[in-house]
Amino acid sequence: MKIVVCVKQVPDTHEVRIDPATGTLIREGVPSIMNPDDKAGLEAALRLKDEVGARVTALSMGPPQAEAVLREAMAMGADEACLVTDRAFGGADTLATSTTLAAAIRTMAPDLVITGRQAIDGDTAQVGPQIAEHLGIPNASYAEHIELDGDALNVRQQFDEATHLTRLSLPCLVTAIGELNQPRYMTPGGVFEAWREKQIRVLTRADLALDEGDIGLKGSPTRVKKSFPKALKPAGVTRRHLTADEAAQAIVEALKAQRVL
Ligand SMILES: Cc1cc2nc3c(=O)[nH]c(=O)nc-3n(C[C@H](O)[C@H](O)[C@H](O)COP(=O)(O)OP(=O)(O)OC[C@H]3O[C@@H](n4cnc5c(N)ncnc54)[C@H](O)[C@@H]3O)c2cc1C
Repeated sequence: MKIVVCVKQVPDTHEVRIDPATGTLIREGVPSIMNPDDKAGLEAALRLKDEVGARVTALSMGPPQAEAVLREAMAMGADEACLVTDRAFGGADTLATSTTLAAAIRTMAPDLVITGRQAIDGDTAQVGPQIAEHLGIPNASYAEHIELDGDALNVRQQFDEATHLTRLSLPCLVTAIGELNQPRYMTPGGVFEAWREKQIRVLTRADLALDEGDIGLKGSPTRVKKSFPKALKPAGVTRRHLTADEAAQAIVEALKAQRVL
């Protein structure tokens, strides 16, 4: 069984800064981590590897420094890693990102693709399902439990109002949520091998034979026009043990104090 896990390197913060000129993420000066949902996805793949002997490939698209999350993935137990990197991929929106990742995945012909539900910087939760669409394979999002069942995968999907039990025939894609598991730590031996001995396979635009109009900024119909942190709301006022009349009176007084009435 071949499993590809998409891992994105993200800034270790929710307050991402955006370059006003290009609308893309400013990474300088912000420590980077493996996207948390992706780590859960990787752990799920490693558990399947422990159970059935799967070969796990970690895949990332990003600048050369994204190598760090791939080495971390190998130190956790991934067998190999692949970095998709090229200046031409810069400024990609979700469509261009998923087009590029899908092209790389096609070269690997996996039985199962796992992505995180969403990246903590872009936060769109679009890339996983889009990859499935490009590859023409079934997809289940928000996986909180997965189980191999012959040539199919049983997935428990967590939604706000309900839990869905879904059965997907392989090859398929699932998007993982943090509740899927508790990811393992890197082992000392794994760290040594991942940083000293293992090579990362690098794929560029030329390797993937992608059209210039389908990748990077040119292949991105979406632009983030502006991004800014949410303004903090002042703490509310709670009044307890009032009768209905007293509550109405308190609301009227509060509205008058703010010159709304
Ligand atoms: C604040 C902000 C807002 C943005 N809003 C939009 C928007 O509304 N529309 C839009 O098209 N683009 C948007 N972008 C651009 C977007 O971040 C990139 O297209 C990004 O590469 C993919 O989107 P995402 O981070 O939202 O991924 P998500 O769809 O949230 O990621 C889901 C999963 O896909 C996998 N994945 C995603 N990117 C990679 C990667 N580079 N390498 C490996 N695996 C990956 C990971 O497993 C991840 O957990 C935004 C960027 C920022 C910083």
